[in-house]
Amino acid sequence: MEITGLINEVREQVKEWRRQGLTVGLVPTMGYLHEGHKSLIDRAVTENDKVVVSDFVNPIQFGANEDLATYPRDIEADKRLCEQAGADLIFHPEAEEMYAPDFSTYVEMQKVSEGLCGKTRPTHFRGVCTVVCKLFHIVMPDKAYFGQKDAQQLAVIRRMVRDLDMDIEIVGCPIIREEDGLAKSSRNTYLSEEERKAALVLSKAVFHGEDRMKKGERDADTVLTAMKELIETEPLAKIDYVEMVNADSMEPLAKAEGRVLVAMAVYIGTTRLIDNFIMEV
Ligand code: AMP
Repeated sequence: MEITGLINEVREQVKEWRRQGLTVGLVPTMGYLHEGHKSLIDRAVTENDKVVVSDFVNPIQFGANEDLATYPRDIEADKRLCEQAGADLIFHPEAEEMYAPDFSTYVEMQKVSEGLCGKTRPTHFRGVCTVVCKLFHIVMPDKAYFGQKDAQQLAVIRRMVRDLDMDIEIVGCPIIREEDGLAKSSRNTYLSEEERKAALVLSKAVFHGEDRMKKGERDADTVLTAMKELIETEPLAKIDYVEMVNADSMEPLAKAEGRVLVAMAVYIGTTRLIDNFIMEV
Protein backbone atom coordinates (compact mmCIF):
# COMPACT_ATOMS: atom_id res chain seq x y z
CA MET A 1 0.00 0.00 0.00
CA GLU A 2 1.19 3.48 -0.88
CA ILE A 3 0.51 6.81 0.80
CA THR A 4 0.86 10.23 -0.80
CA GLY A 5 -0.10 13.80 -0.08
CA LEU A 6 0.24 14.91 -3.69
CA ILE A 7 -2.63 15.22 -6.17
CA ASN A 8 -0.33 14.52 -9.13
CA GLU A 9 0.93 11.28 -7.62
CA VAL A 10 -2.65 10.06 -7.16
CA ARG A 11 -3.44 10.96 -10.77
CA GLU A 12 -0.34 9.15 -12.09
CA GLN A 13 -1.13 6.01 -10.07
CA VAL A 14 -4.79 5.94 -11.14
CA LYS A 15 -3.77 6.52 -14.80
CA GLU A 16 -1.44 3.54 -14.57
CA TRP A 17 -4.25 1.37 -13.15
CA ARG A 18 -6.55 2.57 -15.91
CA ARG A 19 -3.96 1.62 -18.54
CA GLN A 20 -4.10 -1.88 -17.06
CA GLY A 21 -7.90 -1.89 -17.38
CA LEU A 22 -8.48 -1.97 -13.60
CA THR A 23 -11.52 -0.54 -11.78
CA VAL A 24 -11.07 1.96 -8.96
CA GLY A 25 -13.13 2.56 -5.80
CA LEU A 26 -12.84 5.63 -3.56
CA VAL A 27 -13.58 5.85 0.18
CA PRO A 28 -13.54 9.49 1.33
CA THR A 29 -12.81 9.93 5.06
CA MET A 30 -11.51 12.46 7.55
CA GLY A 31 -9.26 9.84 9.14
CA TYR A 32 -9.08 8.54 12.71
CA LEU A 33 -10.48 5.40 11.14
CA HIS A 34 -12.69 2.92 12.97
CA GLU A 35 -14.83 -0.11 12.14
CA GLY A 36 -17.40 2.11 10.41
CA HIS A 37 -14.80 3.35 7.92
CA LYS A 38 -13.41 -0.17 7.63
CA SER A 39 -16.80 -1.51 6.55
CA LEU A 40 -16.72 0.96 3.65
CA ILE A 41 -13.16 -0.02 2.70
CA ASP A 42 -14.00 -3.74 2.96
CA ARG A 43 -16.95 -3.27 0.62
CA ALA A 44 -14.84 -1.23 -1.81
CA VAL A 45 -12.13 -3.92 -1.81
CA THR A 46 -14.66 -6.58 -2.76
CA GLU A 47 -16.18 -4.49 -5.57
CA ASN A 48 -13.11 -2.88 -7.19
CA ASP A 49 -9.67 -3.93 -8.43
CA LYS A 50 -8.01 -0.98 -6.66
CA VAL A 51 -9.12 1.10 -3.68
CA VAL A 52 -8.13 4.65 -2.75
CA VAL A 53 -8.88 5.94 0.75
CA SER A 54 -8.74 9.69 1.16
CA ASP A 55 -7.76 10.76 4.67
CA PHE A 56 -8.22 14.51 4.96
CA VAL A 57 -9.71 16.72 7.67
CA ASN A 58 -11.38 19.13 5.29
CA PRO A 59 -11.21 22.62 6.83
CA ILE A 60 -13.95 24.15 4.69
CA GLN A 61 -16.65 21.85 6.03
CA PHE A 62 -16.13 23.09 9.60
CA GLY A 63 -17.92 26.20 10.88
CA ALA A 64 -16.00 28.95 12.69
CA ASN A 65 -16.96 27.66 16.16
CA GLU A 66 -16.58 23.97 15.39
CA ASP A 67 -13.91 21.38 16.22
CA LEU A 68 -11.46 21.67 13.29
CA ALA A 69 -8.44 22.26 15.56
CA THR A 70 -9.26 19.44 17.96
CA TYR A 71 -10.58 16.88 15.45
CA PRO A 72 -8.72 13.62 16.26
CA ARG A 73 -5.92 12.54 13.93
CA ASP A 74 -3.74 9.39 13.86
CA ILE A 75 -2.31 8.70 10.42
CA GLU A 76 -0.11 5.80 11.60
CA ALA A 77 -3.13 3.89 12.96
CA ASP A 78 -5.06 4.80 9.79
CA LYS A 79 -2.26 3.33 7.63
CA ARG A 80 -2.41 0.06 9.57
CA LEU A 81 -6.20 -0.19 9.23
CA CYS A 82 -6.12 0.57 5.48
CA GLU A 83 -3.28 -1.89 4.90
CA GLN A 84 -5.12 -4.65 6.79
CA ALA A 85 -8.35 -3.93 4.93
CA GLY A 86 -6.54 -4.27 1.61
CA ALA A 87 -6.64 -0.65 0.37
CA ASP A 88 -4.05 0.22 -2.30
CA LEU A 89 -3.47 3.93 -1.82
CA ILE A 90 -4.07 6.52 0.89
CA PHE A 91 -4.42 10.12 -0.25
CA HIS A 92 -3.45 12.25 2.75
CA PRO A 93 -2.95 15.82 1.57
CA GLU A 94 -2.16 18.98 3.53
CA ALA A 95 -4.86 21.64 3.32
CA GLU A 96 -2.49 23.72 1.15
CA GLU A 97 -2.42 20.96 -1.48
CA MET A 98 -6.21 21.03 -1.75
CA TYR A 99 -6.86 24.76 -1.37
CA ALA A 100 -4.80 27.41 -3.09
CA PRO A 101 -4.53 30.67 -1.11
CA ASP A 102 -6.90 32.29 -3.63
CA PHE A 103 -9.24 29.28 -3.86
CA SER A 104 -12.65 30.61 -4.93
CA THR A 105 -14.86 27.90 -6.46
CA TYR A 106 -17.47 26.04 -4.41
CA VAL A 107 -20.21 23.50 -5.09
CA GLU A 108 -23.34 24.89 -3.49
CA MET A 109 -26.56 22.92 -3.14
CA GLN A 110 -30.06 24.11 -2.39
CA LYS A 111 -32.87 22.36 -0.49
CA VAL A 112 -31.38 18.88 0.26
CA SER A 113 -28.55 20.49 2.19
CA GLU A 114 -30.61 23.15 3.95
CA GLY A 115 -32.58 21.26 6.63
CA LEU A 116 -31.41 18.93 9.44
CA CYS A 117 -27.62 19.38 9.90
CA GLY A 118 -27.63 22.18 7.32
CA LYS A 119 -29.62 24.38 9.70
CA THR A 120 -27.10 24.20 12.52
CA ARG A 121 -24.12 23.95 10.14
CA PRO A 122 -25.00 26.35 7.29
CA THR A 123 -21.69 26.06 5.38
CA HIS A 124 -21.06 22.38 6.11
CA PHE A 125 -22.48 20.78 2.97
CA ARG A 126 -20.92 23.40 0.72
CA GLY A 127 -17.58 22.25 2.14
CA VAL A 128 -18.50 18.56 1.79
CA CYS A 129 -19.72 18.90 -1.81
CA THR A 130 -16.68 20.93 -2.80
CA VAL A 131 -14.14 18.52 -1.34
CA VAL A 132 -15.94 15.41 -2.62
CA CYS A 133 -16.19 16.96 -6.08
CA LYS A 134 -12.44 17.66 -5.97
CA LEU A 135 -11.70 14.11 -4.77
CA PHE A 136 -13.85 12.72 -7.60
CA HIS A 137 -11.86 14.78 -10.11
CA ILE A 138 -8.54 13.74 -8.60
CA VAL A 139 -9.27 10.01 -8.33
CA MET A 140 -11.91 9.58 -11.08
CA PRO A 141 -13.29 6.45 -9.35
CA ASP A 142 -15.87 4.06 -10.81
CA LYS A 143 -17.57 3.83 -7.41
CA ALA A 144 -17.44 5.86 -4.20
CA TYR A 145 -18.50 4.63 -0.75
CA PHE A 146 -20.37 6.60 1.92
CA GLY A 147 -21.97 5.60 5.22
CA GLN A 148 -25.65 5.92 6.06
CA LYS A 149 -24.41 7.18 9.44
CA ASP A 150 -24.25 10.55 7.66
CA ALA A 151 -27.59 10.06 5.90
CA GLN A 152 -28.01 13.66 4.80
CA GLN A 153 -24.46 13.70 3.42
CA LEU A 154 -25.22 10.56 1.42
CA ALA A 155 -28.39 12.15 0.00
CA VAL A 156 -26.49 15.36 -0.80
CA ILE A 157 -23.73 13.46 -2.62
CA ARG A 158 -26.25 11.41 -4.60
CA ARG A 159 -28.00 14.62 -5.62
CA MET A 160 -24.73 16.34 -6.59
CA VAL A 161 -23.71 13.35 -8.73
CA ARG A 162 -27.09 13.32 -10.46
CA ASP A 163 -27.36 17.07 -10.94
CA LEU A 164 -23.80 17.56 -12.20
CA ASP A 165 -23.73 14.37 -14.35
CA MET A 166 -20.80 12.79 -12.57
CA ASP A 167 -20.23 9.29 -13.95
CA ILE A 168 -19.65 7.68 -10.54
CA GLU A 169 -21.74 5.08 -8.74
CA ILE A 170 -22.46 6.09 -5.15
CA VAL A 171 -22.66 3.13 -2.77
CA GLY A 172 -24.38 3.66 0.59
CA CYS A 173 -23.27 1.41 3.48
CA PRO A 174 -25.12 0.59 6.76
CA ILE A 175 -24.34 2.15 10.14
CA ILE A 176 -21.76 0.25 12.19
CA ARG A 177 -22.37 0.41 15.95
CA GLU A 178 -20.54 -0.36 19.16
CA GLU A 179 -21.78 -3.46 20.95
CA ASP A 180 -24.03 -1.38 23.17
CA GLY A 181 -25.61 0.42 20.20
CA LEU A 182 -23.71 3.73 19.98
CA ALA A 183 -22.98 4.53 16.33
CA LYS A 184 -19.21 4.47 15.78
CA SER A 185 -17.79 7.93 15.22
CA SER A 186 -14.36 9.56 15.38
CA ARG A 187 -16.03 12.17 17.61
CA ASN A 188 -16.90 9.54 20.27
CA THR A 189 -13.33 10.03 21.46
CA TYR A 190 -14.37 13.45 22.86
CA LEU A 191 -16.75 11.81 25.35
CA SER A 192 -15.88 11.44 29.04
CA GLU A 193 -16.82 8.18 30.71
CA GLU A 194 -20.05 9.71 31.99
CA GLU A 195 -20.87 11.24 28.60
CA ARG A 196 -20.14 7.96 26.84
CA LYS A 197 -22.89 6.36 28.94
CA ALA A 198 -25.23 9.28 28.30
CA ALA A 199 -24.58 9.04 24.53
CA LEU A 200 -26.43 5.73 24.48
CA VAL A 201 -29.62 7.74 24.54
CA LEU A 202 -29.22 8.41 20.78
CA SER A 203 -29.25 4.77 19.68
CA LYS A 204 -31.92 3.97 22.27
CA ALA A 205 -34.13 6.64 20.70
CA VAL A 206 -33.34 5.34 17.20
CA PHE A 207 -34.26 1.77 18.17
CA HIS A 208 -37.39 2.98 19.95
CA GLY A 209 -38.56 5.05 16.95
CA GLU A 210 -37.79 2.19 14.59
CA ASP A 211 -39.75 -0.20 16.79
CA ARG A 212 -42.78 2.10 16.92
CA MET A 213 -42.77 2.33 13.14
CA LYS A 214 -42.30 -1.42 12.69
CA LYS A 215 -45.39 -1.86 14.84
CA GLY A 216 -47.31 0.32 12.39
CA GLU A 217 -47.04 3.88 13.70
CA ARG A 218 -46.98 6.31 10.76
CA ASP A 219 -47.62 9.68 12.39
CA ALA A 220 -44.38 11.70 12.46
CA ASP A 221 -45.34 13.72 15.50
CA THR A 222 -46.11 10.59 17.55
CA VAL A 223 -42.84 8.87 16.61
CA LEU A 224 -40.71 11.98 17.08
CA THR A 225 -42.32 12.96 20.39
CA ALA A 226 -41.69 9.49 21.78
CA MET A 227 -38.06 9.70 20.69
CA LYS A 228 -37.58 13.21 22.08
CA GLU A 229 -39.14 12.26 25.42
CA LEU A 230 -36.70 9.39 25.70
CA ILE A 231 -33.73 11.65 24.90
CA GLU A 232 -34.91 14.25 27.41
CA THR A 233 -34.67 11.72 30.24
CA GLU A 234 -30.87 12.07 29.91
CA PRO A 235 -29.67 15.22 31.72
CA LEU A 236 -26.43 15.49 29.69
CA ALA A 237 -28.29 15.41 26.36
CA LYS A 238 -29.50 18.50 24.49
CA ILE A 239 -31.48 17.97 21.30
CA ASP A 240 -30.40 19.85 18.18
CA TYR A 241 -33.07 18.19 16.02
CA VAL A 242 -35.10 14.98 15.69
CA GLU A 243 -36.93 14.90 12.36
CA MET A 244 -38.74 12.67 9.90
CA VAL A 245 -37.98 13.43 6.25
CA ASN A 246 -38.06 11.84 2.82
CA ALA A 247 -34.73 9.97 2.61
CA ASP A 248 -33.88 11.33 -0.84
CA SER A 249 -35.18 14.91 -0.83
CA MET A 250 -34.82 15.59 2.93
CA GLU A 251 -38.28 17.22 2.86
CA PRO A 252 -40.13 16.99 6.21
CA LEU A 253 -42.93 14.43 6.45
CA ALA A 254 -46.05 14.62 8.62
CA LYS A 255 -46.80 10.98 7.89
CA ALA A 256 -44.33 8.19 7.09
CA GLU A 257 -44.54 7.27 3.43
CA GLY A 258 -42.00 5.97 0.88
CA ARG A 259 -38.31 5.91 1.88
CA VAL A 260 -38.36 7.55 5.26
CA LEU A 261 -35.36 8.90 7.17
CA VAL A 262 -35.69 9.60 10.88
CA ALA A 263 -32.57 11.53 11.84
CA MET A 264 -31.27 13.28 14.92
CA ALA A 265 -28.44 15.41 16.17
CA VAL A 266 -27.95 15.60 19.93
CA TYR A 267 -25.33 17.37 22.02
CA ILE A 268 -23.84 15.25 24.76
CA GLY A 269 -22.06 17.92 26.79
CA THR A 270 -20.32 19.91 24.05
CA THR A 271 -20.03 16.97 21.61
CA ARG A 272 -22.59 16.94 18.80
CA LEU A 273 -23.50 13.38 17.77
CA ILE A 274 -25.81 12.15 15.00
CA ASP A 275 -27.76 8.95 14.44
CA ASN A 276 -30.67 7.81 12.30
CA PHE A 277 -32.66 5.01 10.77
CA ILE A 278 -34.17 4.57 7.32
CA MET A 279 -37.35 2.63 6.73
CA GLU A 280 -39.21 1.80 3.55
CA VAL A 281 -42.90 2.25 4.29
P1 AMP B 1 -15.84 10.74 8.38
O1 AMP B 1 -14.41 10.33 8.51
O2 AMP B 1 -16.56 10.92 9.67
O3 AMP B 1 -16.02 11.92 7.44
O4 AMP B 1 -16.58 9.52 7.68
C1 AMP B 1 -16.15 9.02 6.45
C2 AMP B 1 -17.17 8.08 5.91
O5 AMP B 1 -17.35 6.99 6.82
C3 AMP B 1 -18.56 8.72 5.72
O6 AMP B 1 -19.14 8.26 4.52
C4 AMP B 1 -19.31 8.23 6.92
O7 AMP B 1 -20.71 8.16 6.73
C5 AMP B 1 -18.72 6.85 7.11
N1 AMP B 1 -18.93 6.42 8.49
C6 AMP B 1 -18.53 7.06 9.62
N2 AMP B 1 -18.95 6.39 10.71
C7 AMP B 1 -19.65 5.32 10.26
C8 AMP B 1 -20.35 4.25 10.90
N3 AMP B 1 -20.43 4.17 12.23
N4 AMP B 1 -20.94 3.33 10.12
C9 AMP B 1 -20.88 3.41 8.77
N5 AMP B 1 -20.23 4.39 8.11
C10 AMP B 1 -19.63 5.33 8.84
